[in-house]
Amino acid sequence: MSDTPDIDDPTLHWGPATLGVRAGARPTLEMEHSPAIFATSSFTSRSAAEAAALFAGEQAGNIYSRFTNPTVRAFEERLARMEGGDACVATASGMVAILSLVMATMKVGDHLLASNGLFGATISLFTNYIVKFGIGVDYVDPKDPAAWARAMRPNTRLLFVETPSNPLTEIADIRALADVAHAGGAKLAVDNCFLTPVFQKPLSLGADYVIHSATKYLDGQGRCLGGAVVGDSQSVGKDVFGFMRTAGPCLSPFNAWVFLKGLETLSVRMKAHEDNARHLAVWLNEQLGVKRVFYPGLAGHPQHELAKRQSRGYGAIVSFEVEGGRAAAWKLIDSTRLCSITANLGDTRTTITHPATTTHGRISAEARAAAGISEGLVRLAVGLEELEDIQADLHRGLR
Ligand SMILES: *Cc1c(COP(=O)(O)O)cnc(C)c1O
Repeated sequence: MSDTPDIDDPTLHWGPATLGVRAGARPTLEMEHSPAIFATSSFTSRSAAEAAALFAGEQAGNIYSRFTNPTVRAFEERLARMEGGDACVATASGMVAILSLVMATMKVGDHLLASNGLFGATISLFTNYIVKFGIGVDYVDPKDPAAWARAMRPNTRLLFVETPSNPLTEIADIRALADVAHAGGAKLAVDNCFLTPVFQKPLSLGADYVIHSATKYLDGQGRCLGGAVVGDSQSVGKDVFGFMRTAGPCLSPFNAWVFLKGLETLSVRMKAHEDNARHLAVWLNEQLGVKRVFYPGLAGHPQHELAKRQSRGYGAIVSFEVEGGRAAAWKLIDSTRLCSITANLGDTRTTITHPATTTHGRISAEARAAAGISEGLVRLAVGLEELEDIQADLHRGLR
């Protein structure tokens, strides 16, 4: 039983902040208030008959931490509740959450349709590895549902998108893409890393799966790697879980505990991240030397209305293009004293990066230009420092 019995009552409605603080916690007989870490690889049975029943699946209970672990399960239950899903499988990283979903739900001869605005390692995973198993992959513009409909094939099983995209913050219409997927007998997966369930709940918009890199905002303090797949009780609860418990890309109990505690502050952190980001975007938009700011919360963002309709917030990724190309962008980055020069995001610390020569450095110049990643583009993942201090740090470089 949970320490807050009403939290498990499906007839009651709880907001994301409440679920983040309360859902999924199951105190032991010690009645601890903060969840315990179960650092154990296996679990014992009271008798041979009980062990047999556990292994046969006739009795619920823990066997081995590759299958289930109470700390990991607490994180899974909490995240599932926050996303509004029936099941969640936690994994050792965000990338292996994506791999587990593909391994569990696709087979040779199937086709995967993906956004061309995905995290770089996701594109590498699809293009360099998934195709080796006889799964075809095509890439489509996340902003254009009609292009997805045209790219559908009879064997398309999965559509995969991130919204907002990185680094240009393009918005995909989740409901429209879910309709395209379902019309063709396929499923839609949304990587919800940038907005988290605090701001966006893809399942409520028709998506079938939510992917998380818990490494980012769910931890929020840059400590641990982890990931998760959220969805229904058959394809995630049984199929993805089956792959995970067999192949073993499981989350460690310690990391699960860090994320479980991270979820308790997710709501306040996301709002504080966004508050800083929104003010910075407006301010950057007014600065000399800044050509263009990319942030869905700005009224001038081409998909501001869609972003407003499908999410409760705009997140903390702000990109902007400076006049003077690469030299000016590098000069700005090198003149910061507070921002960390790193491609990571979702940390308390503000990070600054030059996408054209880092995250998107390995794709051809033509492909970069086609994707709108110019040499003058700078990406910020806005942290939790004082707004005035971040502003002053960027102002120095812009002068
Ligand atoms: C970081 C990231 C991933 C991969 O997660 P890891 O935990 O680093 O494996 C996937 N998607 C997005 C959007 C990310 O930012």
